This record gives sequence, C-alpha cells and structure tokens, in this order.
Amino acid sequence: DARRSTILQTENLTKRFGGLTALNRVSIKVERGSLTMIMGPNGSGKTTLINVCSGILKPDEGRVLFDGEDITGAPPHEIYKLGFIRTFQIPMPFLKLNVLENVLVAMKNSGESPLKAPLRPLWMKEEEENVKRAMEILGRVGLSDSWDKESFKLGGGQLKMLEVARALAAGAKLIALDEPIGGVDPAYANEILGYLSDLRKNLGITLLLIEHRIDLALPFADYVYVMDRGVVISQGTPEEVSNDPKVLEVYLG
Ligand code: ADP
Repeated sequence: DARRSTILQTENLTKRFGGLTALNRVSIKVERGSLTMIMGPNGSGKTTLINVCSGILKPDEGRVLFDGEDITGAPPHEIYKLGFIRTFQIPMPFLKLNVLENVLVAMKNSGESPLKAPLRPLWMKEEEENVKRAMEILGRVGLSDSWDKESFKLGGGQLKMLEVARALAAGAKLIALDEPIGGVDPAYANEILGYLSDLRKNLGITLLLIEHRIDLALPFADYVYVMDRGVVISQGTPEEVSNDPKVLEVYLG
C-alpha cells in the first residue's frame, strides 16, 4: 500500500562545517501522509537536516531517498520537481498580487506557452479550471475568505498558509515547513495545525515540520524525531518522546 510507505529516508547522513559536525550519521524515515516533527534545541541540526534533504546543502556522507529515488546531492530544483517542496524555496509570493493570483502563479500554466497562445478558447477553459482548483486549495488552508486580499495585508501565519497553498498548487507530495506557527497566537496556531493535519489526512500530503513551540505542535504530530548536537537522541509518538528522560534532560538542562 503506497500510502503507508516511506516517502523520505536518510541513511547515516553526515554534514560537517569545518570542524563542526552538524549532522552525525542521522537516519530517519518519514512515512507517506504523516505529519512528522523534528524538534530539538537551537543548534541541534534541524535546519541542516532539512537543507541536506532538500538539496540546499550537500552531505559529506550518507544517502537521501525520496519517493523511491536516490536524491543524494541532487540540486534543489530537481528535488522540488519531484514534489519535495520546502516552502521558502517557492519564489517569494508577489506581495502586490492578491491571494488567489499568488496561488495561480504557482501552478504550472500552459497558457503562458507561446505555442498554446493561439488556442485561446482552450486556454480560457484551463484558466477557469485553475481558478476552481486554486479556490479549492485556499479552502483547505483557511484562506477562502481572503482570496481577493493583497498578500502584503496578510498576517504572518496567513502568509505561511499561503506558502502552503502555493506548494500544493505546485504539486507538492511533501511540504517541509520551518516554524509554521512561529509568532502566531495560540488560537490561530491550533487552527493552522488543524489545517496541516487535515492535508495529511484528506490529501495524503506528507508534512515535515521544524517547530519550537512543542507544547502546541506536539499533539498534532504522528511521529517525532528529537535532535541534540547533530544526532537523533529520541524518536517515536508524541507521547513516547515527551516521556523520554533523554528528551527532558535536553530541554530542562
Ligand atoms: P537548528 O536548526 O537545530 O537550530 P542548525 O542546523 O541551524 O540547527 O545548526 C546546527 C549547527 O551547525 C550549529 O552549531 C550551527 O551553528 C552550525 N551551522 C549551521 N549552518 C552553518 C553554516 N552554513 N556554516 C557553519 N556552521 C553552520
């Protein structure tokens, strides 16, 4: 059953910056359609792990497998095309465009092709379908009511959700998010986590989250990896990791 398989896997991933080993033989498995969280104190290697997986950094050792392909050291745009989308990789939303337009530009639109331009009726039909699809995507991230708002008028959390909408429009299978609820009030943070959790449930999208506000985010996770000083020190369900003495030690000193 493809929906229960592993979509992302690292094997003994190692990354050094000069004398510092930021990742030390890190092996993780992310299940397709899961909301997987990476937590750990500042400087523990979370960002480096995502950077190496998404091609922004090349590993010194180890392998990265995504959706059945070895993507170790592949350039970011190729990994993006395979459906591993890190939200900040998407060209910055054009903040003067409205929310709907920003989702539309993230879609692959054949109307822009000079070969298709003469076929205007066909193009119009496609445009209409794209709008329908974009509105459906906006509904899934709670931005339906804001569809005609200029993007610069969105709050920080809503802008993050617009990025998620754009990732969906671009055909994401896995969306990697850095602190999706950073700076967001608890009520809206819960709403955001609910939308993300539904994407995984309803569309089978995989979500990989780096999050610091574990009190809020942890209950939404299917599986958690805890890092400290470049290694995975604990993994399991939210309950398992939050009861692990090693995790408490890292967080409480
Ligand atoms: P986290 O995301 O968990 O806060 P990072 O992955 O950003 O941790 O950083 C892990 C370690 O690697 C830190 O000690 C950090 O200072 C170091 N580091 C990260 N990126 C670089 C870089 N480009 N050059 C040198 N050191 C880096």
